[in-house]
Amino acid sequence: MSDERLPGFSTLAIHAGAQPDPTTGARATPIYQTTSFVFDDVDHAAALFGLQTFGNIYSRLGNPTNAVLEERVAALEGGTAGLAVASGHAAQFLVMHTLMQPGDEFVASRKLYGGSINQFNHAYKNFNWNVVWADPDDISSFEKAISPKTKAIFVESVANPGGVILDLDAISAIAKRAGVPLIVDNTMATPYLCRPIEHGADIIVHSATKFLGGHGNSIGGVIVDCGTFNWSRDGRYPMLSEPRPEYQGIVLHETFGNFAFAIACRVLGLRDFGPALSPFNAFMLLTGIETLPLRMQRHCDNAQAVAEFLSNHPQIDWVSYPGLPGDRYHNLALKYVPKGAGAVFTFGVKGGYDAGVKLVSEVQLFSHLANIGDTRSLIIHPASTTHRQLSDAQKTISGAGPDVVRISVGLEDKEDIIADLDQALSAN
Ligand SMILES: *Cc1c(COP(=O)(O)O)cnc(C)c1O
Repeated sequence: MSDERLPGFSTLAIHAGAQPDPTTGARATPIYQTTSFVFDDVDHAAALFGLQTFGNIYSRLGNPTNAVLEERVAALEGGTAGLAVASGHAAQFLVMHTLMQPGDEFVASRKLYGGSINQFNHAYKNFNWNVVWADPDDISSFEKAISPKTKAIFVESVANPGGVILDLDAISAIAKRAGVPLIVDNTMATPYLCRPIEHGADIIVHSATKFLGGHGNSIGGVIVDCGTFNWSRDGRYPMLSEPRPEYQGIVLHETFGNFAFAIACRVLGLRDFGPALSPFNAFMLLTGIETLPLRMQRHCDNAQAVAEFLSNHPQIDWVSYPGLPGDRYHNLALKYVPKGAGAVFTFGVKGGYDAGVKLVSEVQLFSHLANIGDTRSLIIHPASTTHRQLSDAQKTISGAGPDVVRISVGLEDKEDIIADLDQALSAN
């Protein structure tokens, strides 16, 4: 083995960012359940507060357990630095806070997690950050949505819930022409299936709550700085390119170079808004990530088998899974997620609303709830739950028509998953 050899993905998933605890020898990463950290002396404290040295101060700003999670996800994505926060939505918020000034715009794919659509349409309005929607099925709509006020483009690599695969190369080319960073939410794919940095992403966000943690037990989020964007080119990102009064006039991009974005999210966003991740949750998420490659492959293999079963079932009208050869996103899936098309997809039951309600009521192995990316198989009928408040027309536009059922295929034996759907579909 030459010294040049870089560790592979599975090795990084287990080791990146971690080493035996220098004080105790503990092999698993300890949970540093402490609010604060003792300074060596007054000079050390001053250097920490002035960003002249790295180190621990207070767990809202950083924590050694969280630091291992940050380094691990950054390594898996191929970025320069990470920042762990309390949830996926907190990650998105801190990213936007670092990029946007009041009155600015960003362009977002219309095909996003419902909570993100809500955050962009409503919560961000309070800051006068304005979303302009684009259609991933018409790439030119991204170009058309760009204006002089645009500060970023936001997409999901594999979009929740409908199994839409984004043409990241085409969208990153548009971002580059516009001189703005491409932000990719890589929650559904995880870096095991897709590495957005290889397709021009500048910033990656995760809801670690889902497949990264993978066990349905901890909420968390991660931001990854890809280290690819020049923040000082034209003064459009003053948080990064102008002196910061809170830190004695430091210019973050000048001082921290290709990981300045992650630093800005920490020292200007996390510090002041405070959505810190508990070190206990960081520990749970780290434990989950150790088996990410094994789990994701099994999730995909099971999902493929379930999608094939459903597409041949007489009670099923249609199945939207990019792993199926006839699917409209199949070619994009072969390019962007060749190991598998993820584990979350939608299908339509014959009999509409009532048949959807019946299916989620009759399943036994599946859990009827609003989450994805658990070891357990999960099911939801959006029209009667998450999208209940919308009109019928709005439901259909947002992919939540009366017949639509979404599943997140778990890690049980695929024969048992299929048998459960089969018995629920034939129950009367
Ligand atoms: C769940 C989810 C989010 C939000 O993450 P939380 O951890 O629930 O805040 C964002 N994007 C995608 C794709 C998600 O599935």
